Amino acid sequence: MHKDRGICKDTCKEYKVRKPRDGTSRYLSGQVRCQICGVFITRQGCHDKEENPANDETVDLYCNCCNCMVRSKPRNKPGIERNKKTPQEEYDELKKTNQKTF
Ligand SMILES: [Zn+2]
Ligand SMILES: [Zn+2]
Repeated sequence: MHKDRGICKDTCKEYKVRKPRDGTSRYLSGQVRCQICGVFITRQGCHDKEENPANDETVDLYCNCCNCMVRSKPRNKPGIERNKKTPQEEYDELKKTNQKTF
């Protein structure tokens, strides 16, 4: 079944998605990039390692068309969300500092 690995058989066009106009991340909207086919496709056009249809939880996604691994997510960039505090945390901290002054 995998002898066609790495070859675009044009089946990806069924799952091909258009570029979002509003600039939303494609990865966030559940789209994956197949570098072999050169297109963004939906998860419906992918399968996992065991050749089950991919779902939202699937990490290892393979293109149904060329059977190559596709990227489902951008790599986590550490540090971006690190220093963000939730409003609750900020409130707690404020309370603490206020208590100290009393
Ligand atoms: Zn293809
Ligand atoms: Zn592909």
